[in-house]
Amino acid sequence: MFGSEPDALLQKSLGRLPQVLCARNLRHDIDDLVKPILPARPAVVFDHNTGEALGERICRALKAVPVLLAGNPAADMETVDYVRREAAECAGLVAVGGGTINDICKYASFADGKPYVVFPTAASMNGYLSANASIAVEGYKTTLPARMPEAVFCDLSVIAGAPVRLSRSGLGDSLARPTAQADWLLSHLLLGTAYDETPFALLKPFEPHLFENARGIGKGDMESIEALMKVLLLSGLGMTIAGGSYPASQGEHMVAHAMEMLSARHSREGGNPGSFHGEEIGVTTLAVSKRQEALLRKKPTLLPLQFPTEILEKLWEKKAMEEADQTYKIKLARIIENDLDSRLRGNDGWWESIAARIESIMLPSASIQAILKAADAPGTPEALGWDMGAYATAMNYARFLRDRFTFLDLE
Ligand SMILES: [Zn+2]
Repeated sequence: MFGSEPDALLQKSLGRLPQVLCARNLRHDIDDLVKPILPARPAVVFDHNTGEALGERICRALKAVPVLLAGNPAADMETVDYVRREAAECAGLVAVGGGTINDICKYASFADGKPYVVFPTAASMNGYLSANASIAVEGYKTTLPARMPEAVFCDLSVIAGAPVRLSRSGLGDSLARPTAQADWLLSHLLLGTAYDETPFALLKPFEPHLFENARGIGKGDMESIEALMKVLLLSGLGMTIAGGSYPASQGEHMVAHAMEMLSARHSREGGNPGSFHGEEIGVTTLAVSKRQEALLRKKPTLLPLQFPTEILEKLWEKKAMEEADQTYKIKLARIIENDLDSRLRGNDGWWESIAARIESIMLPSASIQAILKAADAPGTPEALGWDMGAYATAMNYARFLRDRFTFLDLE
């Protein structure tokens, strides 16, 4: 699947492995691929774009029940319920699409205890092989437990034919590996939280090739897209192995999430420029990477630990901030328990040895910048059309939104 070493590692870590196939053209094999997994008549879920690219063809080949999601579908509970109703008579689901349709089908099939397979139509994000689904519940984006698909079938000619912004977005999400690893390792070394190298060992044979060929991503080159797809699939498996998004989502995702929450309010008040998740992650990864480098070169101290309720409730919904306060308490307890403030102020060389270990797994921010540039991907908040005041707020306050200790907690 990914080569003998990664496959052996995956087998050892996960036991049950989904079937993964990447080929230049899967069109003639659809029936042979899906039937052994979903022998009864399945439902095929697609939207207008993915239906045209692949979904309608799959539906015909399998003589399946079509479930067309109208307009620009969102990964929310209403759409999940719609898919569950439309597929009620079917024993399994076939998702044809990118992040949104994958999340909808992943959660719908999990909720009904049905198997599902996915035909990705874009190399835009790393959730195809993760076990969680990101679904909006009553307007709040929520990470819900779900299950991996039985199989992922990648038709590379379809994926390479997707709008190039989607592949750039996948590259942006992949670039978060070094910043996320640095944050995850920091928390482990400072606070004794869990940490596992396996997700990174899986990516090691593929990541350099992807980053060296970033230019091809911007041009929709088939070989570069294949490398990207493999990195994204392995990144998802890494999250499944880690039992959470830890190896792929830390400070850089927290800033983007904070920004998204600010923009949600901003857009209700009139207009907000649209950008894809991975485009945002490319930008926040570069910013967070620069911050990590600066902090590793000095002797950092903790930022004020007090949860600034009043300020945060002005920025975000009160209900969300009450939840964030509870989550933040977990992190705060760890910081106090480990007497982190005085340990960081000590002169015993503790920080220096930690900094050296973290530096060894990082990618220089200059390289991250060069990779984004080579792919013609946005590299600055301005390029995303972000409001700079809101962006500064997100950088400062994102650290209060989760229990993860990251470089955002240091100054
Ligand atoms: Zn992401």
